[in-house]
Amino acid sequence: MASVFETVPGAPEDIIFALTAAYKADTDPKKVNLGVGAYRTEEGKPWVLPVVHKADHIMVDDENLDHEYLPILGLPDFRKASVKLILGANSKAIAEGRAGSAQCISGTGAVFTGAQFLSRHYPFKGAACYISKPTWANHRAIFEGVGIPVLEYPYWDPETKGLDLKGMLACMESAPSGSIFLLHPCAHNPTGVDPTPDQWKQIADVMEAKGHFTFFDTAYQGFASGSLDKDAYSVRYFVERGFEMFIAQSFSKNFGLYSERAGNLTIVARTPEIKNTIESQIAKAQRAVISNPPAYGSRVVSLVLNDDKLYGEWEENLSTMANRIISMRQALFEELTKLGTPGTWNHIVDQIGMFSFTGLKTPQVKVLKEKYHVYLTDNGRISMAGLNTKNVEYFARAVDDVVRNH
Ligand code: PLP
Repeated sequence: MASVFETVPGAPEDIIFALTAAYKADTDPKKVNLGVGAYRTEEGKPWVLPVVHKADHIMVDDENLDHEYLPILGLPDFRKASVKLILGANSKAIAEGRAGSAQCISGTGAVFTGAQFLSRHYPFKGAACYISKPTWANHRAIFEGVGIPVLEYPYWDPETKGLDLKGMLACMESAPSGSIFLLHPCAHNPTGVDPTPDQWKQIADVMEAKGHFTFFDTAYQGFASGSLDKDAYSVRYFVERGFEMFIAQSFSKNFGLYSERAGNLTIVARTPEIKNTIESQIAKAQRAVISNPPAYGSRVVSLVLNDDKLYGEWEENLSTMANRIISMRQALFEELTKLGTPGTWNHIVDQIGMFSFTGLKTPQVKVLKEKYHVYLTDNGRISMAGLNTKNVEYFARAVDDVVRNH
């Protein structure tokens, strides 16, 4: 009997997950995985943050914890602490009662939840969401998935290997008023290039003048610079200026809780009443998609964020990760300089966060994979976390070869 699904075409594999599978299947001892956006130690191993390990133990010993459903919008202490983390303890939006939130399925779920709300309730019908060129691939998929048209704003300038601020601002100027702009507050994925405070001011000026809606997506707070406040600068600046906004927060990287799917959608609205209305609609929509969010990861995050001592330990863990990555940028830069690899490489140290956009071209990436067993995405993005003192020289030599000969 024929299947009713006979005519369904197969979908392509996800590039990042496929890359990890290819790396795992490679038996060469020299192999290097620079694809996946997950932290690795100097030994190339995943890292359970010591503070998370501690929280795990506290939870195991807590006889009051059960496995009951969480409320539809999630764990109240987690939500409150997440909002405070991104907006800052002294945020006027919090003081005025117009900052709210929904616990979501990690950062991805928070972007989805915000996008789904906009697809149903945003008053500018047909408004497009502008995403940076390039951006995290899921942004397009999520917004298109809820029926919001997606357009791109210029971001990466291949000439300077930095921010194309002029192009970005021109696009914001020419976009129809009330467009949605998805912005990365820090550690832009995939380029590692962030606007400076003065550039954020220029961006905010245009966003305000044009009445665009700000949708921040932050997956690297504290992980980028090691400072939670510094990495939240852009968000807090926009709040200070009075913008309404959504902020998708992921705790995958800064807590190393990748598989626990701990995330939050922070909402900053004009009034407490509007904030309540938005939350009520999100609760209604969330009920129909996940019913209620998972508890484990949010309990870990909540324990740490709501305890001064654990919070301090978390900040130390964050510094450990951020500093190792920063030192790997320096090491790679020094190796390439030593080799005299053609081209300029200062962007490697100027960029910030987990990723570096190397400027390597797709054919060069192919050689890196086939000849050197080094795995990275075709756009030349490398995850700095995959480098360590044992493989950085090998990687630099491989880069030197492909730049000279391919
Ligand atoms: N947004 C950006 C920009 C990211 O880089 C990521 C992860 O790579 C995410 C969101 C979401 O991550 P997760 O859903 O794993 O928390």
